[in-house]
Amino acid sequence: MDLDYSQEDQQFRKRVHDWLAENVPDEALPNDSQGARDYEVAWQRTLYENGWAGISWPTEYGGCGLSLVEQIIWHEEYARAGAPGVGCNFVGLNHGGPTLIACASEEQKAFHLPRILRGESVWCQGFSEPDAGSDLANLKCRAEVMGDHLLVTGQKIWTSYGNVADYQELLVRTDPDAAKHGGITWLICDMRSPGIEIRSIPTMVGESDFCEVFYENVRIPIENVVGEINDGWRVAMSTLGFERGTAFIAQQMRLSEVVEALAELARDTPGADGRPAIEDSEIAGKLATLRAEVAALRSMTYVSISRAMRSPVPGPEGSMTKLFFSELGQRAYQLSLEVLGTGKVERAPLSGHWGGGTDWLRGYLGSFAATIGGGTSEIMRNIIGDRVLGLPRDRR
Ligand SMILES: Cc1cc2nc3c(=O)[nH]c(=O)nc-3n(C[C@H](O)[C@H](O)[C@H](O)COP(=O)(O)OP(=O)(O)OC[C@H]3O[C@@H](n4cnc5c(N)ncnc54)[C@H](O)[C@@H]3O)c2cc1C
Repeated sequence: MDLDYSQEDQQFRKRVHDWLAENVPDEALPNDSQGARDYEVAWQRTLYENGWAGISWPTEYGGCGLSLVEQIIWHEEYARAGAPGVGCNFVGLNHGGPTLIACASEEQKAFHLPRILRGESVWCQGFSEPDAGSDLANLKCRAEVMGDHLLVTGQKIWTSYGNVADYQELLVRTDPDAAKHGGITWLICDMRSPGIEIRSIPTMVGESDFCEVFYENVRIPIENVVGEINDGWRVAMSTLGFERGTAFIAQQMRLSEVVEALAELARDTPGADGRPAIEDSEIAGKLATLRAEVAALRSMTYVSISRAMRSPVPGPEGSMTKLFFSELGQRAYQLSLEVLGTGKVERAPLSGHWGGGTDWLRGYLGSFAATIGGGTSEIMRNIIGDRVLGLPRDRR
């Protein structure tokens, strides 16, 4: 068996490498929400104009339709080049658009997919509510069907990028008398509709792209229903399949670069005895473990890409990668603080590997989000137990 990259693969890698070297912006990501949106959609536009938008999307929907190996190469080179993170385009590109491809009508696809790829519309996700997070089917946000439109009243919370989004994947309850998982509908909500109020929630990292969204008699045209009325749980399972299965592939590949940057940091930072921190056997041991673990994560990522190419919607196995990736990220950033020691943390740069002008402390604080967003680690463990391993269900 020949496991090496073929000559064509190597030519493809060179093409990706050269294009990124030429085009990755030098400017750092702006700190304010609107500035960051402008920067991220401009980068998406550049990707689109140069034929690199939607690398895993099928060509019939305007994507690149890259092969498995090409996608791996793209992500490796992208991470190495420190190219911009997906930012506010995350929902549209990584689970909103893919859900439309899997479940929407041809009219919905024709309108929305090109706009997402061109960086013309930013999407957010309106699933969670104050009493519906892990138990998502408990959602209460109401929508009444009134002829050619639905009238939405209620609240969502933890809506990332709600303050800069144009559209939202919105889950509402259309039949309050149906069983818990029935009576839910998946809607495309125009975030500029009258009756929507958006309030930012500051995070411990200091960001304000996290929002509460309030709906007061918001009119949503009936043609914005994806799937059928009261069939939203099925559509939402597709969305969560993408969110947990493939949405974080770029970040997963990037974690290798973070661990390499961490090794460099340990070489350059003196420990308590004045010698480089990497000479401390405990730190060296943890670094070696992290390296092995990112190699394992990389293999899991290859499997995710391969599976995604064979099935229209990722299955529950994605929860294993999501769980491992998010907890591994926390261990990596935790070690960075051990290497740096107290007092020096705030100003330590991330050696330019990560891009976006972030630092180790922000990385550490931000790493907690990954074990909650898209479903908590406990819920991932439940899914792995129930749906991957077939163990007896959790007694709630
Ligand atoms: C960075 C980030 C971004 C997010 N972005 C969005 C977004 O854009 N749109 C959106 O809709 N939501 C978003 N969320 C919300 C996210 O989906 C929820 O926070 C998550 O599903 C958990 O729900 P909760 O916060 O209500 O916690 P709860 O469900 O109240 O859970 C509290 C604790 O109880 C545990 N728990 C709950 N049920 C069980 C169980 N059955 N077994 C074991 N343990 C359990 C949980 O693991 C957790 O530790 C985001 C969250 C974060 C952190």
